[in-house]
Amino acid sequence: MINELLRPDLRGRTAYGAPELDVPVRLNTNENPYPLPEAVAAAVAKAVAAELPHLHRYPDRDAAALRADLAAYLGHGLDASRVWAANGSNEVQQHLLQAFGGPGRTALGFVPSYSMQPLLAAATGTGWVAAHRADDFTLDAAQAAAAVRAHRPDLVFLCSPNNPTGTALDLSVVEAVLSATSGLVVVDEAYAEFARPGTRSALTLLDRHPRLVVTRTMSKAFGFAGGRLGYLAAHPEVVDALRLVRLPYHLSRLTQAAARAVLAHAGEVLAAVARICAERDRMVTRLREMGLPVADSDTNFVLFGGLGDQQEVWRALLARGVLVRDVGLPGWLRVTAGTPEETEAFLSALAQVLKERA
Ligand SMILES: *Cc1c(COP(=O)(O)O)cnc(C)c1O
Repeated sequence: MINELLRPDLRGRTAYGAPELDVPVRLNTNENPYPLPEAVAAAVAKAVAAELPHLHRYPDRDAAALRADLAAYLGHGLDASRVWAANGSNEVQQHLLQAFGGPGRTALGFVPSYSMQPLLAAATGTGWVAAHRADDFTLDAAQAAAAVRAHRPDLVFLCSPNNPTGTALDLSVVEAVLSATSGLVVVDEAYAEFARPGTRSALTLLDRHPRLVVTRTMSKAFGFAGGRLGYLAAHPEVVDALRLVRLPYHLSRLTQAAARAVLAHAGEVLAAVARICAERDRMVTRLREMGLPVADSDTNFVLFGGLGDQQEVWRALLARGVLVRDVGLPGWLRVTAGTPEETEAFLSALAQVLKERA
């Protein structure tokens, strides 16, 4: 009965959902395995406590101080007028689609890529075009530009480093796409902090490209997934436009204060990135030693293949207390880099599973 009341374009769709299972080793949603360092957690508690006498008043609608802190973290000469923030980069991307997409417009992405982007397009009534990566998950500049010219989307989503495959794009791809479209080009850099040395961020292109948007998040490297804070850097007019669609006071006083306290200790928090990258690299090496194909990773996760029925492997790992992600790519699974103990638990469970199947 209720289904008939639902918007026709939403009927039959399934909600975003990584299974939230309570298992000993959870390596399925690319969270940072380390809690905030104690001193940083204490600074967050103090900053949040200082807001408590003011909770009867609305927060700063424009989150000006937080956006200035985010701009300072990003560098590249950015300031608050070129930075926008919201409750996770998912909300940031929803704001972009609300303002620049919508009914009668289309967004294009290169699959396999971030599964939330088509869902956000659907929720905002934006048409979605799934263009494709090569069989080895790479994206070639000329092919990307050709797809964009063929479909003439209003927004293009690039994800670099890409989720679920893990590899960063060369900036020549971003530049080719910018040349091929007169629309907005959004580069989702949720995993930028984990990229291998020498990887260049699309932030370096912002000064020359007013239609370029780079989104980031505090959910991964900053270990602040539960705090919900995402942001973007773009031309000031893009940022201004997002004010038209955001809810008033969308970032609570508590969120703004907590995020600023974490940013004030960025160095201490980001010290965990090197440890996580070491575990990632160890997984890549060990998985390749097992004879499995593995995508190069610039992220805190690894996509590995050669599994045949990946659902069966996923279930067998779960039975051993290890939760990884089935992203729907036949033969492949995605695993997040955890603590050394978690990584070891995953690798030895997988070795057992493969041995039993051999
Ligand atoms: C995890 C992830 C995000 C983060 O989303 P938040 O809403 O900021 O938690 C964004 N983009 C990609 C590709 C991701 O994998």
